[in-house]
Amino acid sequence: MLYLVGTPIGNMGDISSRAVEILNEVEYIACEDTRVTGILLKNLGIEGKKLISYHEHNKASKGNELISLLKEGIDIAQVSDAGMPAISDPGEDLVSLCISEGVGFTVIPGPVAAITALVMSGLSTRHYHFEGFLPNSGSDRKKRLNKLADYDETIVLYEAPHRVKKLVSELVDLGFGSSRVSFCRELTKRYEEVIRLTVVKAQSYFDENEPRGEFVVCLEPKAKKQVEIDEAALERRVHELRDQGMAVKEISAILAEETGRHKKDMYRLVLSLLK
Ligand code: SAM
Repeated sequence: MLYLVGTPIGNMGDISSRAVEILNEVEYIACEDTRVTGILLKNLGIEGKKLISYHEHNKASKGNELISLLKEGIDIAQVSDAGMPAISDPGEDLVSLCISEGVGFTVIPGPVAAITALVMSGLSTRHYHFEGFLPNSGSDRKKRLNKLADYDETIVLYEAPHRVKKLVSELVDLGFGSSRVSFCRELTKRYEEVIRLTVVKAQSYFDENEPRGEFVVCLEPKAKKQVEIDEAALERRVHELRDQGMAVKEISAILAEETGRHKKDMYRLVLSLLK
C-alpha cells in the first residue's frame, strides 16, 4: 500500500499522530530530498527507515521502481519536503501510476500552504482558484497571467521571493491594481507574517521591504466595471463607432472597456449587430 503523507509546512508540531504512525510502520519512505526528510524523521525519533529519493527529475524511472515494490506487498510512504505531496510537489504521477497499475493508495492529510494562506488572507474562501506556481518567464508565464484576469474567485499563487516584485508589477499591468492582495510569509514558522494591502500599494511596500522567505499570494479577482447599459444604447454606440471608421475589433475593445464585459463576448455581439 502507498501512503501519501502530509508533513508540516514549517512548524513540526503540525504533523498528525496518524502520519507519525504510518511513517513508523512503512518499510520505505519515498521523499524529495533525503536530507530534509532525514531531519523530519530525526525530530520524530523515527530511525532505520530506507529512504528512496523521488523527485521531479527522476519520477519517471523511480515511479516504476516504487510500483514494483508496492506490487510485492511492501508498504511505502511518500512525502514531499513540506506540506501535501502532489500539491505543487511530486506525487500526482505516482497516484496516476497506482491507479493504472491497480495498486492501492491512500492519503494521510496534513497542512497545505495554499489553504492555510487562504484562511489567513481574509479574502473570500467560498470559491477560489489554486494557480500554484506560474511559469518562471516567457510566453507561458504571460498566458497564465492573462488567464488570471478571467477568474471571479480568490486566486492563490505560490511565488519565489525573488519574483514577488515582478509578479506585483505584472498584476498592476493586468489591471489588478485596486484588487486586495495578501502575502502570507513563513506560515506556521517563527517569523510568520501576513501583509494585506492592494496590489498597487504592494509595489511601494516591496520597494521598501525586500521580499524574503516563502510566500503564498492570495489575490482578489480583477475588479469588473460592469456598467449597466441597455441594449438599444449599446447598438447606437456600435454604429456611432462604426461611422467613425472603426473596425469590429477596435469597437469591441472600446465597448469591453466601457462596459466591463469580456472582449470575446463583445466581439461576438458587435459582429451580430453589424451583420
Ligand atoms: N506541497 C506544498 C503544500 O502542500 O503547500 C507546497 C510545496 S511548493 C514546492 C513550495 C511553495 O509553497 C513555496 O514556494 C511557497 O510558495 C509555499 N509554501 C510552502 N511552505 C510555506 C510557508 N511555510 N509559508 C508560506 N508559503 C509556503
